[in-house]
Amino acid sequence: MDRFLISNNKKPNDGTQNSEPAPKKKKYDESSVKVRRYLSEYLGLGFSATKSDPVNAQCVLCGQVLANSSMKPAHMNRHLSTVHPSHVGKPIEFFKRKQEAFASNCLEIAKVASVSSKALRASYAVSYLVAKQKKPHTIAECLILPALVKVSEIMFDTKTATALQSIPVSNNTISRRIEDIASDIVMQVIEQIKLTKMFALQLDESTDVSGEAQVIVFVRYQDCSDIRENILFCQNLQSRTTGEELFKVIDKFFAEEFVPQNLVGLVSISLQ
Ligand SMILES: [Zn+2]
Repeated sequence: MDRFLISNNKKPNDGTQNSEPAPKKKKYDESSVKVRRYLSEYLGLGFSATKSDPVNAQCVLCGQVLANSSMKPAHMNRHLSTVHPSHVGKPIEFFKRKQEAFASNCLEIAKVASVSSKALRASYAVSYLVAKQKKPHTIAECLILPALVKVSEIMFDTKTATALQSIPVSNNTISRRIEDIASDIVMQVIEQIKLTKMFALQLDESTDVSGEAQVIVFVRYQDCSDIRENILFCQNLQSRTTGEELFKVIDKFFAEEFVPQNLVGLVSISLQ
């Protein structure tokens, strides 16, 4: 009886029965769709902001997007430590560089989307040949492609020759392709070094056309039953070829790529 009275007191007018739950639901919805703001320190965890509305967080290493509701440091930390464990604790400058590279790759993908896949493959194949033969980047645009077009006109037909002209071989394109191929080779070598039980480094010195000193780092490692050798990287030395300068260059490379735990030997050939 008491209960009945209380419920009657709560609802003095029957007409308000339907309107009561509505404002409660509205208030709940407003609080549940809280829009999170991207903070600049998230880049230190490997995440940049997307240009969408609301803003989402995107991994600068693999491109994975975290929804706005998941844009929390704990989620970003978990992604970094599980998907990219070798990059945990890297300085923010490292992720800034990765962000710039990621942005330029996205632009590149947008550009090549209009190029046919065959023309793209041909462009990479020509770039690889140019790099292997150590020829200037301009040779593709000024000699290789015109020669291909002429040969096609003579041997085949004008339709084939026109199709060949769609292969992107400008100076800048060839340069970018060679950089892509080079960084892919370095990635492959690094992945193999990570899998090997032990590896050794050999340092050599060279000078470029402007007379600046460069250090060339070779790596020797075991791959199945074979011993393999590769150039790991080549970099300008900012000052002199001192041991300290060499250490800085190699330390920086390994800090950015991976922390070697199986380096068993280091030899320098012509360096002081
Ligand atoms: Zn990622």
